[in-house]
Amino acid sequence: MKKATTGIHHITAIVGDPQENVDFCAGILGLRLVKKTVNFDDPGTYHLYFGNEGGQPGTIMTFFPWPGAYKGRIGTGQVGVTTFVVPENAFNFWEQRLSAFKIPVTKDSRFGEDYLQFEDPHGLQLEIVARQEGPKSMWEFNGITQDEAIKGFGGAILFTAAPNQTIELLEEVMGLEKVGQEGNYVRLLAKGDLGNIIDIKLTASPRGQMGAGTVHHIAWRANDFEDHQEWRQHLAENGYYPTDIRDRQYFNAIYFREAGGILFEIATDPPGFSRDEPFEKMGEQLMLPAWLEEKREPIEDTLIPVTVRELKEDES
Ligand code: ZN
Repeated sequence: MKKATTGIHHITAIVGDPQENVDFCAGILGLRLVKKTVNFDDPGTYHLYFGNEGGQPGTIMTFFPWPGAYKGRIGTGQVGVTTFVVPENAFNFWEQRLSAFKIPVTKDSRFGEDYLQFEDPHGLQLEIVARQEGPKSMWEFNGITQDEAIKGFGGAILFTAAPNQTIELLEEVMGLEKVGQEGNYVRLLAKGDLGNIIDIKLTASPRGQMGAGTVHHIAWRANDFEDHQEWRQHLAENGYYPTDIRDRQYFNAIYFREAGGILFEIATDPPGFSRDEPFEKMGEQLMLPAWLEEKREPIEDTLIPVTVRELKEDES
């Protein structure tokens, strides 16, 4: 079987206070909160999904906000840096916006592209790159128009304990193509137009430690449910041990750990975030899957309410 993912479906990170998370992602980065639900494996905590206007695959950054969580350490066995992509002419806009919100920014370049690198309030390492490819986000919020809005993921930098094996997995099993090597990075390309550029860091980092400010896992796209079952079989045939298929309400998921220590997921494009609330209202109410509805009251009592709100530059 020959298979190829179109790229990143979503990336999930652990952070601290949920309102700080919402203020940063919605208020400063201008992402749409497309779903407010709970961690299905730990229903006393939120699972917040941000993305473009519809939360299309390739745009979805998700968070487990654990108030008072211990800070983790970014390092080997993790997605080290999450890359967002903005329209071609929006680089200066973002440099100014981040500095107006007093977020320290460093500039870097790889493979001939410029990057703005910064951290979220909980130490998560993020960067912004400007590229022509990929559809614009239609979500406009708090001073950000479609001409500047984050389109979705540009890609990610993987910090792997076994770079050669991770590269081999991505090339031979996941269907990405190696397109370059520069300094300490190998670049791989997936077929989609968002979440499609993956850089592998070849030099060692300290061992990563899960906690606030670190990525929990990266999910890759499967086209549909049939394709998803094929992926599970394909991984098993190539010596990996994927979990059984889990119903994550907005997609189906399987998980496996790659040789370099990073937790990989494969997630289906359908059914998406408008399956349980209308597009216009997405993200406003706490949504629970049927099997948690009977526990809604205790769940709501446990969660700290969060609101999407506009922020002023001098208030942040
Ligand atoms: Zn996931």
